[in-house]
Amino acid sequence: MYLKGLTLKGFKSFASATSLNFEPGITAIVGPNGSGKSNVVDALAWVMGEQGAKSLRGAKMEDVIFAGTSGRAPLGRAEVSLTIDNTDGVLPIDYTEVTISRTLFRSGGSEYAINGHAARLLDVQELLSDTGMGREMHVIVGQGQLDQILQATPEARRGFIEEAAGVLKHRRRKDKAVRK
Ligand code: ATP
Ligand code: MG
Repeated sequence: MYLKGLTLKGFKSFASATSLNFEPGITAIVGPNGSGKSNVVDALAWVMGEQGAKSLRGAKMEDVIFAGTSGRAPLGRAEVSLTIDNTDGVLPIDYTEVTISRTLFRSGGSEYAINGHAARLLDVQELLSDTGMGREMHVIVGQGQLDQILQATPEARRGFIEEAAGVLKHRRRKDKAVRK
């Protein structure tokens, strides 16, 4: 399993549709300060279901939508699609290629899709939860965050281990069942 492609449209500084293709192995994104490198990483976290605006370096979720520049009007929605190569079948779904999409409208509505079919956040979370890419712990280490991870509390460290062991999926299900 590896990340094959990422398409951003109206996400942060990426006003026009921008597609990135990745190969297996290590990918490096280089560019001047402010050119959007971290925005690409934010898009990756966002399409996998990130719910915290702060984790995405904004104040509210709407801040991920292209806010306009002097020469370009703001947009009404942000869309990100992530394509994952699943030829090894790590994702529990019967497709060799899986595309997860997330759309947020400025009016507030939010949508997810898996291979073009409408899905819920929970479906995306469950699809990713046994892969090490789940919401609480894909391994994104932000600029300056290394110290935080090294100094994580035992509880936070336990969270990482639970995610890796696939326990969090069951906890989420249990919480959901209890809330009903
Ligand atoms: P550095 O090398 O300094 O870390 P970077 O390449 O990681 O830079 P980013 O943080 O990804 O840069 O991009 C910052 C740019 O994205 C800023 O110019 C900011 O104005 C722009 N930006 C962020 N959110 C939006 C938005 N909603 N609409 C338009 N532009 C945005
Ligand atoms: Mg950056």
